[in-house]
Amino acid sequence: MSSHEHFDAIGFDADDTLWFSEDTFRHNENRFVDLVSPYAPTGVDVKSALVATERVNIGTYGYGVKSFGLSAVEAAISITNGTVPVAVLQEILRGVREHLTEPVRLFEGVAEVLSKVAQTHRIVLITKGDLVHQTHKVDTSGLAHYFDHVEIVLEKDPATYRRVLTSLDIDPHHFCMVGNSLHSDIMPVLAIGGFGAYVPYEILWELDQSEGAPTAGDRFVEIAKLADFPDWLASISR
Ligand SMILES: [Mg+2]
Repeated sequence: MSSHEHFDAIGFDADDTLWFSEDTFRHNENRFVDLVSPYAPTGVDVKSALVATERVNIGTYGYGVKSFGLSAVEAAISITNGTVPVAVLQEILRGVREHLTEPVRLFEGVAEVLSKVAQTHRIVLITKGDLVHQTHKVDTSGLAHYFDHVEIVLEKDPATYRRVLTSLDIDPHHFCMVGNSLHSDIMPVLAIGGFGAYVPYEILWELDQSEGAPTAGDRFVEIAKLADFPDWLASISR
């Protein structure tokens, strides 16, 4: 991989790459099923109905916890044909508020990884989702000082990555994106000529599933855990 010996910058995804995120969504989805199922007609798949509502609403609401909350309330009302008790809706909203205000829980060793990478490379944080929530997480993570730039985007597609890298004067061919989602962090960066370092996390959101996987080799690597990234980076920069 001679053409990629030198990266100008390393991009990091945030949710489920640097800190826990999806587990709280999963908790609130399960809570939704428990809360709403007693009022749903028999045979209705409550979880699937919730995910379907989220899928329809992404274009209007965008990603994040508040969008989940709006979709959950909408789904609770429609699944139950309007019979859902107000107390259930209050409980759903309480879960959303708790999610928005929960402290950031970093993955183990994250600060060490960023500290090592920052010694040799510019670091850019690229995350999608709600501006208020994502900004709050970055600000309270204790990691903000490692990032040369933080970019919170609406969508992680090739056009967005190209726009962000252009604005930072980073050549995509000398850029490596690190993240837990093939769909959002890896494929779009490969599409614009960049490098992808895929660090899977055990839980992946239904709507972030990838249609396929890139083949290992040029411009793509799968790394078992984030703590292994600096050694990999050093090994190919040699
Ligand atoms: Mg992620």
